[in-house]
Amino acid sequence: MNDKNPKAKKRYGQNFLTGKAVPERIAREAGIGGEHGVLEIGPGRGILTEQLAVTAKKTVAVEIDRELIPFLNDKFVNHSNVTIVEGDILETDIAGLINEHFRDMPVSVCANIPYYITSPILLKLIEGDYGFDTITVMVQKEVAQRLTAKKRSGEYSSLTVLCSYYASVKKLFDVPAGCFSPRPKVDSAVVRFDIYKAPPVNPPDIRLFFKIIRLAFAYRRKTLLNCLAACPDIAYPKEVICDILTSNGFSPNVRGEELDIYDFDKIARFIRDRER
Ligand code: SAH
Repeated sequence: MNDKNPKAKKRYGQNFLTGKAVPERIAREAGIGGEHGVLEIGPGRGILTEQLAVTAKKTVAVEIDRELIPFLNDKFVNHSNVTIVEGDILETDIAGLINEHFRDMPVSVCANIPYYITSPILLKLIEGDYGFDTITVMVQKEVAQRLTAKKRSGEYSSLTVLCSYYASVKKLFDVPAGCFSPRPKVDSAVVRFDIYKAPPVNPPDIRLFFKIIRLAFAYRRKTLLNCLAACPDIAYPKEVICDILTSNGFSPNVRGEELDIYDFDKIARFIRDRER
């Protein structure tokens, strides 16, 4: 192996950023200050890590590829505020890592993540309730569109609504495929989650609330009424669900794509209250 340039491995989703402009911009727009601890996922050859090292107080970068570890340790040998950890982020005890490295610091995530596990990574980071300030990640352009989609658009999905419970999500900028080596087949975009300190709604039955959101988008062409009536867990005849919707101001033909987090909170409450 040429130590200056470790070879890219497909199985780990390795597409390395080339040039400093994109990593500089990511670090600048990630909402990270000199007091922040930063968790990076998949540092690769460390091109983003270099920027985080000068932006944040401390950076901990978790990399799965064992062959990159000596290269990264060597590269950051003179940066006492960078720690490289070998591991799979999906198996990593993130709360333990924060406790070990970032005690008494606000913590953010900043990463060009491997696309083959985009959703599991995002769900772990967001649902884990680790107290992150911001999560800034490079994702496939289509994923960025879904995450930031508006109601009634084709990209609006359960992922959009779920994320809107935890954070306000903004697309920062697009990154064309030509900015990576090897060049990926897809274009990319950087998105930033500003995590809410308190969620926008407080559903009394959180499991029912999430279930209704998932059901609403499970069958794109069905109305919410039909999605709910088809679910054995909801346990109401269609007429009752129809009555719950219409007596609370929703059309019986309403679809998931027309509803935001506040609407789902109302509907989940109406259904729960009817159960009592
Ligand atoms: N941040 C670098 C590399 C991005 S490529 C850059 O911008 O150039 C994605 C990186 O994630 C690779 O280094 C890959 O080895 C690493 N990776 C893949 N799966 C991982 C996992 N499960 N846990 C941690 N890192 C992972």
